[in-house]
Amino acid sequence: MTTAILGGGLTGLTLARLLDERGDDVVVLEAEPGYGGLCRSKSDKGFTFDTGGSHIIFSRDEEVLCFMRRMIEGNEQRNNRNTKIFYKGQHVKYPFENGLSDLPFADRFFCTYEFIKTHIAVEKGDLPPPRNFREWIYYTFGKGIAECYMVPYNEKIWKYPTDKMSLHWVDGRIPRPPVEDVIKSAVGIPTEGYIHQAVFSYPLHGGIESLIRAIAAPITDRIRTGFCVRSIRKSGDCWLISDGTHTVTADRCIATIPVQHLIPCLKDVPLLVQHACNALVYNSLVCVTIGISGHVPAISWLYIPDLLLGRTNRVSFPSNYSPHNAPGACGSILAEITHQPGDEVSRMSDADLIAQVTATLETMDLITKDQIVFTHVERQPFAYVVYDLDYQKNIGIIQEFCTSIGVPLVGRFAQFEYLNMDGCIRSAMDFIAKILEDKNPS
Ligand SMILES: Cc1cc2nc3c(=O)[nH]c(=O)nc-3n(C[C@H](O)[C@H](O)[C@H](O)COP(=O)(O)OP(=O)(O)OC[C@H]3O[C@@H](n4cnc5c(N)ncnc54)[C@H](O)[C@@H]3O)c2cc1C
Repeated sequence: MTTAILGGGLTGLTLARLLDERGDDVVVLEAEPGYGGLCRSKSDKGFTFDTGGSHIIFSRDEEVLCFMRRMIEGNEQRNNRNTKIFYKGQHVKYPFENGLSDLPFADRFFCTYEFIKTHIAVEKGDLPPPRNFREWIYYTFGKGIAECYMVPYNEKIWKYPTDKMSLHWVDGRIPRPPVEDVIKSAVGIPTEGYIHQAVFSYPLHGGIESLIRAIAAPITDRIRTGFCVRSIRKSGDCWLISDGTHTVTADRCIATIPVQHLIPCLKDVPLLVQHACNALVYNSLVCVTIGISGHVPAISWLYIPDLLLGRTNRVSFPSNYSPHNAPGACGSILAEITHQPGDEVSRMSDADLIAQVTATLETMDLITKDQIVFTHVERQPFAYVVYDLDYQKNIGIIQEFCTSIGVPLVGRFAQFEYLNMDGCIRSAMDFIAKILEDKNPS
């Protein structure tokens, strides 16, 4: 049995490795000259940076976390998360609701009072249940935290109105703060949110791509890079997969590429499915890496909700993740700008992007221009799934169709779900377990 895996990102490579461990023949078809997808890294002039934005290794899923840590064994740096929000010139502890004592007095009162008022109203059943993400934010955090941080930051990263976003995904991903934690944080007693991320791992050498390389190690000879899948046809029991020049024949075909790339490769796709695919919303990403002489603050990453500070929504400090991410007396900063495909940002030159990011970092007192010794820009067409209100209907139509023709969807942009690395590995593991179960039903 030969399995063709479309896409050589984390999901495709994990699937290939797991199938290979079972003794199956696999071939991974990857469009780019290098494999790894969003989890690639580059090294240049002594700086190592992740080209798909800042990546750290963490998970609540013990099995998956062990898998990832085993892959980078001997090449692992453990870090304590120290994350901040840049708010009115201050570094406020993250999550915002755990950092209220860092706020100016008036904002601290506004956030605490509105949180408690909303909490009481919810307990008494006086508030109707939320119908969209914006209403959920107000319902969960109150007007203060909503308007100071949650709404501006979310609208900046998603590039989408929060009242047009679905809320099906928030439970579990954005924890509801316990009321005593919010009160403690307002009066200055330290509290922690998002415990599962409090300590994270990162490869000492090679950036996040070294995780990918370790996963791919046993199957690198089965990865065909530069193979952009353009057509997928069924012939008898076989799949014929072509890039327009070469054709690969396989018994099974698993897609980990974005559905927006997959659907046009298929024959006789119903209009309903094509429309559902066209209606899905996603964001692209620009990453600007800046290397500086001197050190960066001892922060893991910093969220920037304020639109007046420019387009950057988050900056991270890769030289704090591993000392090998920057040469000797230098530090590194990775600025992320999400944007809509084809918009103004996608047309901006690298030089303009670097100039804008530099201006933002200077305003935030993170660097001075004369410290800059290195700059680089990377662009990712598919970065974030945006859960608009029609998302569940549209993805349901696509999944049903792909299941009906026998092309399973696994991974962040194939399932079209907000999956982190652990979610992708979990999906791959569950997919393989299901194959085994179908083969040997108990
Ligand atoms: C800014 C940012 C920060 C993140 N930070 C973290 C983090 O800290 N921790 C964490 O756990 N996760 C993080 N993630 C999520 C993580 O990057 C993803 O979960 C993971 O990389 C997705 O892997 P994938 O293989 O499903 O998709 P991808 O990485 O998108 O891989 C898909 C592959 O398919 C290829 N492809 C596309 N079209 C074709 C075609 N027609 N033919 C052949 N190949 C094709 C692409 O080139 C790509 O290599 C982050 C994501 C972003 C955007």
